[in-house]
Formats: sequence, structure tokens, C-alpha cells
Amino acid sequence: MKNDCVFCAIAAGEIPAFKVYEDELVLAYLDINPFSKGHTLVIPKAHTEGLLDTSDETLAAVIARVKKVAAHLKSALPCDGFNILQNNGEAAGQTVKHVHFHIVPRYGNEPIVFENHPGDMSALAALAQRVSLVSAV
Ligand code: AMP
Ligand code: ZN
Repeated sequence: MKNDCVFCAIAAGEIPAFKVYEDELVLAYLDINPFSKGHTLVIPKAHTEGLLDTSDETLAAVIARVKKVAAHLKSALPCDGFNILQNNGEAAGQTVKHVHFHIVPRYGNEPIVFENHPGDMSALAALAQRVSLVSAV
């Protein structure tokens, strides 16, 4: 765990998150500044910064969970597709230096701007209740 890392703190249960999926290696939770309804982040619990310093083994585990969570969101939400994003380095828009994959649900022809906007916490809490695979959210 890295001391000043917000995603490590979430993985350790030190700060709350709207969890969607959890197992021993991986955690998924709603992005609190979502690009679209159901925007979810998938992280390995162990800290690495980005794609290049993460082991192939960990990446394989994480991408398998990205697939599982995306499939679940696609059936739990009325979305029609989704984007997977993964940013590396400030130049690429990475703001949290703990490797993560974004799952961004897409709805019909609804246009999207890949920019963060503060989410409505009560709407996120209600959504987490609806879509979470974790028993205690
Ligand atoms: P990136 O720009 O790829 O580094 O994405 C980081 C994402 O983490 C942004 O979309 C933020 O909205 C999101 N984020 C930051 N802090 C939290 C948090 N405490 N809980 C959930 N999402 C967060
Ligand atoms: Zn971390």
C-alpha cells in the first residue's frame, strides 16, 4: 500500500467507495465524477502506477475482471455499449497514479465528453445498491 494513494486507501477500506465488485486481487467501484451513468473503475488492490510497471499476471487478472464487471453492467443498466479507458501519465490525463481501467457505459447516440463532473452522491449510492455484486455496499 502506498501512503498517499487514494485508491490504496479505498482498497484498504480506509475511505469509502461505491463498490461494484470485489475479490482478493481486484476492486471495482463507481467513479465519483462520472463520464456517464455507471462509470466504474477497476483496480488491482496492490499498488502500481500504470500499465508499464504492472505485471502481466496482474494485468491478466484485472482485465478478466474488467470483462466480468462490464458484462454485468451491460445487463444491469439499460446501456447499449461501453468504452474501456486506461490512462498512463499526466500527458495522457492520468490523475490518480494507481493503475486503473475505466468502464464507461454508453447509451444510444447520447454524446459524451470524456471529462469529469462531480457526481450526485445520493444518486451514486442508489445506483451502487442497484448494480453492486458486493453484498455490503
Ligand atoms: P484518471 O484520470 O484516469 O487518473 O482517472 C482517475 C479517476 O478517478 C477520475 O475519473 C476520478 O473521478 C476518479 N476518482 C478520484 N477519486 C475517487 C474516489 N475517491 N472514488 C471514486 N473515484 C475517484
Ligand atoms: Zn495505490
